[in-house]
Order: sequence, then structure tokens, then C-alpha cells
Amino acid sequence: IAPAPPVNLDDRFARELPEMAVPWQADEPADPRLLVLDEPLAVTLGLDPAWLRSPDGVRLLVGAGVPEGAAPVAQAYAGHQFGGFVPRLGDGRALLLGELVDAAGQLRDLHLKGSGRTPFARGGDGLAAVGPMLREYVVSQAMYALGIPTTRALAVVATGRTVYRETPLPGAVLARVAGSHLRVGSFQYARATGDVDLLRRLADHAIARHHPDAAGAEQPYLALLEAVIAAQAALVARWMLVGFVHGVMNTDNMTISGETIDYGPCAFLDAFDPATVYSSIDQHGRYAYGNQPVVAQWNLARLAEALLPLLHDDEEAAVDLATTALDGFRRHYDVAWSDGMRGKLGLPSDLGAPAVTPLADELLTLLRDGQVDYTSFFRALAVAARGDREPVRRLFPDPVAVDDWLTRWHALAPDADAMDRVNPVYIPRNHLVEEALTAATDGDLSPLERLLDAVTAPYDERPGLDRYAAAAPPDFGPYRTFCGT
Ligand code: AMP
Ligand code: MG
Ligand code: MG
Repeated sequence: IAPAPPVNLDDRFARELPEMAVPWQADEPADPRLLVLDEPLAVTLGLDPAWLRSPDGVRLLVGAGVPEGAAPVAQAYAGHQFGGFVPRLGDGRALLLGELVDAAGQLRDLHLKGSGRTPFARGGDGLAAVGPMLREYVVSQAMYALGIPTTRALAVVATGRTVYRETPLPGAVLARVAGSHLRVGSFQYARATGDVDLLRRLADHAIARHHPDAAGAEQPYLALLEAVIAAQAALVARWMLVGFVHGVMNTDNMTISGETIDYGPCAFLDAFDPATVYSSIDQHGRYAYGNQPVVAQWNLARLAEALLPLLHDDEEAAVDLATTALDGFRRHYDVAWSDGMRGKLGLPSDLGAPAVTPLADELLTLLRDGQVDYTSFFRALAVAARGDREPVRRLFPDPVAVDDWLTRWHALAPDADAMDRVNPVYIPRNHLVEEALTAATDGDLSPLERLLDAVTAPYDERPGLDRYAAAAPPDFGPYRTFCGT
């Protein structure tokens, strides 16, 4: 067995923001067993994959054995959950083990989920089950492979402990890596304490880690707000373009870095419909697919409110600055979305948004009316760009409905190869995720491994993987996902 290599975990968050960091220890698992490990990610973090697979390495991955000098903490944050403000949420079942410097010189959080109750646990048991932690693993792997900013899953370790939900389930700990775990809710927490010095230190910490250009701006805190707005607008545009439904866009689940976080009830669209909701607790469709841009902007307004004391001494002037910055969301979003749609449709880069947007909007109406599988459509459309329209026509219950649109689109000379580089053939389809998680819960990891193989090279169509590209079978029925499992 490899000797323990040095793992240098910094405690920068805890040192700079002690008011928001509660020193805490992970539970010691009864019988830890490594289920999955992202070896290339481990390497970029300077961690030896062979050592991580050893008993000492696994103890690090569950937080039971942390290196000398490490100071794990539960982070405090607040948040709007489904529109209602909760002043004290925090890491109820998670811990920040510390920060590592990656191969690119970037500081990255090493974080655990499912590591036991903390002082923020309220009524919760502090635990997580194998299925939901593997869901986060597979979906975040897919997002990364799609080029969408995301927190990363380093490993999932089964704990050997039973977790009680509706049924007894095997427990697990997820080891997660992120640019940071700063959220809109972190700023709401700092603001709610009334301590402007704390709020300023938090903003300085966020600028240093994520938006360093803001430090040199005339108004650094306004520049921070603008940078977060731009990053989130670009992120949500990517979600919309790929058909991702986050499912629980509470302000505590929206990062300052612009990375996707919290893969609880998320899912990808099958048939295109803006009203799609998967989460069992989202009864009014607040976080429906089509609402995501508006919700993101609403969340960013909560960030702006939290930052007001830093924007200007005069509150009215601060509100004016914040309002102008928030108006930028739509602009950033529209540019990112129409650029992305132009790419998906294979159209030339000099074709402006005024030409792309109406054509795309018209298409989305056709897709919705026909309940067409969103991901399959764009790959079939590339076949149409090559001259054979039948595969795309066959996706519509009434193929004639799309003929006129296809003719106008084809006249713009789409580039089929360019389309295949931006339109995935393999996404973590809901029925495949369920199949993989059910098998893994019963101890069989092979369906999960095959799914990971498909979705980690999403643009690259390979023989033998047809079922990973196909729409859900009709008997799969309406899909439901669950939070906090
Ligand atoms: P989420 O819905 O995952 O964003 O979590 C919202 C809040 O609930 C956070 O403060 C979590 O730490 C907390 N939480 C979720 N599940 C549990 C659990 N099983 N035990 C303790 N806290 C939890
Ligand atoms: Mg969360
Ligand atoms: Mg969650």
C-alpha cells in the first residue's frame, strides 16, 4: 500500500470568515467502501488515485481521517426556499474539509455531503443515500463533459450505514470539488447579521476567488455583482440550451462562481415543454424549465439587496446601481442564448440574433406542439443538414408541420459537423439514470459505469450505445424527482 502522501488542505474560508464557519467533524462510517472515483480529477488536485483507493485515502474521502492542520467546518448560509426567506440554513449534512490548489493554480474546495449531522441539521439526520449521491456524481460528470460550469464529484463512498427515507437505504458520502461553495445565500446570511464588516470580508473573499478583475474596478462591489450576474446569465443559458431542469433554484443553491450546484431533484428534458417540472415538492412549477431565467434574475436581485450597504452610502443611490446591474441579466442571457442556438442550428456566426431568435422561437413552438424529444431532435437535424430530412420529420406526430421551417432553415446553409460538436447525442436520460441508481442501490454498479461511459463523451456517437441515445420508452411514464434524499 502506498505511503500517505502529503495532502495540504488550506482553511482560508474558515480563517477569513470565522463567523460563517463552525468547526465540525465528519461521522466515522461503519464500513466505508469506495464506489466511484474520478481519477483524472484527483490527479488535477494533486491527489494520488491509488492512495485514494487505500483505506487511508477512503478515510480522507469521508472526512474521518483529515490531514494534520486541516480544519473542517460547516458553512453558514441563509436562503430563499421557494420564495420564503430562511435566515439560517447552512451545511446540515455537509462539511468543507478545506481548500486545495489545483494544477491550474486555482483554489478548490474539497467538500463532503452526507457526512453526519451538524449544528445546522435542524430536523435532518445529516445523512445521504447511495442513489442520490450517485445521481449527483453522474449528472455533474455529464455537465462537465458538456462544457457546462459545474461543481465536480470526486468520489462516492458507501458508508455501510442504513439511512431511513420511505424505505431503508444504503448510506453514502459524496466528496465534491468546487471553485467555492459561496452562494447567494452566503451573502444573505452575512447581510442578515447586520455586520457590514463581515459582509465586506465575504465580498472581498469572493472577488479574490472568482472575479479578481473586480478588485481593480472603480467600484469593486458593484463589479462583483455585475460579474455574478454575467456568470449566472451565461450558466442558465447553457442549461436552457441543453434542456437541463435544475429543480431547486433556491438562493442557497445558486453559486457566486457561476457553477451549477446541488443535483438534488434535477433532470433533463425528454419531450420539449417549457412547463416541465420534475421535482415532487415543486407543486406550483416555480422552478419549471421555462421559468429558470426569470428565477435566476429574481435570485440575483436577492444578492443585490444583500450587497446594498457596500454599493453606496446613500441607499437610494445603491438601489439605482443595483437595478441597472440587474437589467444587465437579460442582455447577457439573450446574447448567450442566441449564440448557443445559432450553434445548435449550425448557422453561420455572422447571422445576428434578430435572424436567429425568431427562427429558434418558431422551432421551439413546433417542438412543444409535437412533444418532440429535445436531444434527439438536434442530432436528427444535423442529418437533415446533410440532405436527409426523414429522421427529423419522423420525430413529429405530423411531419408536414415542420417542412416549411426546415426549408427556411436549410436555405441558411447549416454546417452539420459543427452541429454535431455542440448537440449531445448522450445525456443522462431520466430512465437510464433511474435504471443505474436502482441497480447501484442493489449492489450492481455496472449499469452506472456504462452510463458514465456514454455521458462523459457526449458529442461522440459510438456503435453499440444506441439505447443511451434513444428517448424514454413510452411505459416510463411521467418522471418525479426528490430533494434532500
Ligand atoms: P437542499 O434542498 O439540498 O439545498 O438543502 C437545503 C437545506 O437542508 C440545507 O441547509 C441542507 O444542509 C439541509 N439538509 C438537507 N437534507 C438534510 C439532511 N438529511 N440532514 C440535515 N440537513 C439536511
Ligand atoms: Mg443545497
Ligand atoms: Mg440538495
